This record gives sequence, structure tokens and C-alpha cells, in this order.
Amino acid sequence: MLAYGMKIIFHGAAREVGKSCIEIQTDGQRYILDAGVKFVYKGIEYPKYLDNVHELDGVFISHAHLDHSGALPMLEHKRLNCPIYLTKLTWKITNELLEDSYHLELLKHVHPAYVERDIHLVEHDLEFVKYDKEYFTKDKKISFQFLNSGHIPGGASILMNVEGKKLLYTADINTEDTLLMVPSLAEQLQGIDILITENTYGERKHPDRKATEEGFLSSVKEGLAGGGSVLIPVFSVGRAQEVLMLLARENIDAPIYLDGMPRRIMDIVMQSNDPYINNRELLESAADKAIYVHKHHREEICKRKGLIIVSSSGMVQGGPSVFYAEHMIHDKNNFLLLTGFQASGTTGRSLFEDHVFYHKGKKIPVQCHVRKFDFSAHYGQDSIINLQRKINAKHLILQHGDLDALEAARNFAEKNTKSKVYVPEVGEEIIID
Ligand SMILES: [Zn+2]
Repeated sequence: MLAYGMKIIFHGAAREVGKSCIEIQTDGQRYILDAGVKFVYKGIEYPKYLDNVHELDGVFISHAHLDHSGALPMLEHKRLNCPIYLTKLTWKITNELLEDSYHLELLKHVHPAYVERDIHLVEHDLEFVKYDKEYFTKDKKISFQFLNSGHIPGGASILMNVEGKKLLYTADINTEDTLLMVPSLAEQLQGIDILITENTYGERKHPDRKATEEGFLSSVKEGLAGGGSVLIPVFSVGRAQEVLMLLARENIDAPIYLDGMPRRIMDIVMQSNDPYINNRELLESAADKAIYVHKHHREEICKRKGLIIVSSSGMVQGGPSVFYAEHMIHDKNNFLLLTGFQASGTTGRSLFEDHVFYHKGKKIPVQCHVRKFDFSAHYGQDSIINLQRKINAKHLILQHGDLDALEAARNFAEKNTKSKVYVPEVGEEIIID
């Protein structure tokens, strides 16, 4: 088998973002890096061309976002029969997200490719790993380490030794400092033969983080000073904690209400001993300041002024942020502050771009202020370039990005590194001799 070399197959997140799943075949064994889903207009896409799931020898999950972990129950449904390696915190968060999305899909009459029991079956195959420790797969064929990725709590880049070659799968990564996460130190790794890396921001630079934070906080203050309330839709994992920490650090003098999934995630993160939380004390004070909302109190909260509501979902596509938006957009004194990427076709995007709120088949004009801030948890173009150049791997595989982002990253890499550069498509196989 060794004579054929290592084969890397892309079942998703190749020339797209979503359904991350990369298969490594070596010496007759099969492993996958991530098992994600992609939420599309008509439902859910699963990793493509992933056959004979019962033959897999190991599954590695980088982090809890469902585009990296959401296909785990589907694998169980197809009789997965191997360990799933991940951090304990990643599983705790993933479990919450899986349960939530399963029920949400049923409400929308979208039927996932598995049943609820499969979510519980995942637990039987879990093998928790600690950061920075070297492990071997159960079959003893490859060694691996989970390294902090700086992306979200529990998240990791995965460093593997396969056939004597060092392979680094960054997964979603941030090498830049944020309040919540210690940045990844992947740039310092040496002797990497194969680098597989994300390029979400391959063609874009992030605005200066400090300026973004200041702009965001001054909008919060402007909203409160003008007699309104401030609604902050957030992604539940990472962004919610980051925003609450920012408000706590500024000592904003207003009640801060927290609603939706971020309440559970906050509890899980607080209970964890993730060593790569950047400012644990600030996180604790953020948790202390947050008032958890019971759904019966939502209406009453909307009637009051001078308060801040932090709620999922981040693109105002579901969760209590829809309810709050419905009640708050009519008052010109209120502020609605979006805190991350708004995909095209989402309610968040039309709130920001067209100043309209699409709700229950109606198009409602928006009276309140709407602003958007880039609090990304992915590294931006400058850091991508730095990582490519510093690691200078023999093989550089660019994935997890749209075409423009990937082309920009490829151009840079071909000019500035000695790496052999690949931009695979879904279904493509790369053979490394
Ligand atoms: Zn992610």
C-alpha cells in the first residue's frame, strides 16, 4: 500500500465553505478530518462521496461549529465503527448545537439524514483528547496532536504524523489576538510537509480590531444615550462571549440581557477548563453581568428602554433575535448592531443593506439604526499570507473559502512560497508520494 503514497480526498469545503470533511487514506487505513454539514436554501448538504462509513478507522473533529461537526449523527446512522477524536469542550458544545439544529430542522420540515437517537450514539465513539499531547490512533498507524486554533473555545488545529510526513490541518484558525481566545501559534511550527488551511478571508483584510471595538462600543453608548435600547444579534459560540466581554470591560452602565442558545454555551464554556481562554477573569465578570432571559419575559423587556439585549441568532434567521427585531425596529431611537458576517439572502443582510426586515412573508421598513461590525474569528488575509510563508510547506492545500478568496491565496502562495499549491474541488483526490 505504501508504494501508492498518501491519498487526500475532499468530501466538502473545497471551493466552498460548508460540509468540511477531508479523508486521508494511508497504508490501507481511512481517516477523516471533520464531518460537517452545509446549510443551504432547501435543507442540509452532507459530505459528498463518503462511502462505506463503517470502514473508517478514525474521525478527527477540529471544533464545534456544525459545518465541521454536524454530520457526526449521519455517520452513526451509517454505522460508524471507529473512534471520534476531539476535545471534551468541543463535544459539549457540539451536542448542544446538534440537538438544537435537529429540532429546528424538524420545525422547518427539513428532515436530517438521521434520527435523534443517532445524536446519542455519537457519544459511544468519543475519545477525548487534551491539547498539545501526542496520541496514537487506536490502530497505532498515525500519531497526532490537537493544537489551539484561536478560533472558538475547545477548537483545534490538528497536527499529524502520517507515513513519516508532518501534516497540519489548521481547520478554522485565528492567529490574531481576541478577548476570548489566545491566538494560534501555528506560524511557529517547522518541518511541515503538508499544510491544509482555510481561506475564508483569503481576499479580504480585517479592519483594525481596536477600531472595530471602539466603533461598536460608541454605537452602544449612542443608542443608550439617545433613549433607546440596543439589540445585538450574535453567533452563540465565541461571538456571544466576545461581545459580552467587550461590554464588561467597558463597564457599560445598562442592564445586559442574554437570550437564546448563548446562555447554554456561556455556562458550558464557564464550566470548562479550556486553557486557551484568553481573559478568564473578564469572561467571569461578563457572565456575572449577563441577565439570562426567560422566554416569558421577552415581551416586557422589549417595552423597556435603556437596555442591551445580546441574543442568537447572529444573522437574525432564527432564535429570539427575530422576536426582538420584530419589536424593536419601529423605534428610531433603538440600535441594532450586527456583529459578524451576514450571508446573502439572510434577514441580517437585508436589515443592513436594504433597511428592511423580512418577517412572516412581509417586508417591513426599518426605523431603527442598523450597523455592522467585523468581529471575525478567522484569520484575515495578512495572517493567511504570513502562515503560508512562514510554514513554507512542501504541499499547500487551500480550502474552506469561496473562489475569489482561494484564487487570491493561490496567487500569493505561487509567488512567495516554494510550496506546490492545490485548490481542490469536492470529490478531488490528491496523491502525495
Ligand atoms: Zn468555525
